[in-house]
Amino acid sequence: MGICFNCGGFFTFNPERVPSIRVRRDGSGNLVRDLKATKEPICRSCVERANPIRIARGLQPIEILDGAYDPEPDSDFDLEGDE
Ligand SMILES: [Zn+2]
Repeated sequence: MGICFNCGGFFTFNPERVPSIRVRRDGSGNLVRDLKATKEPICRSCVERANPIRIARGLQPIEILDGAYDPEPDSDFDLEGDE
């Protein structure tokens, strides 16, 4: 679970598979692309909104991998032990 860096919405994702961007906010809160920034997860609706814009600009659409928005496999369910 985490917060979408783009819209601030709370969403569930698998950190291994979720689409992410390397951006940071500058002093006035604007997003700036920065290849040295940490990767920030992006929610499905933001990816779906971004893709037509990317295609219109001649960029590759962001691919959503299978399971990208499934809960993390490594969850508390494992704690129900084998006693
Ligand atoms: Zn979002």
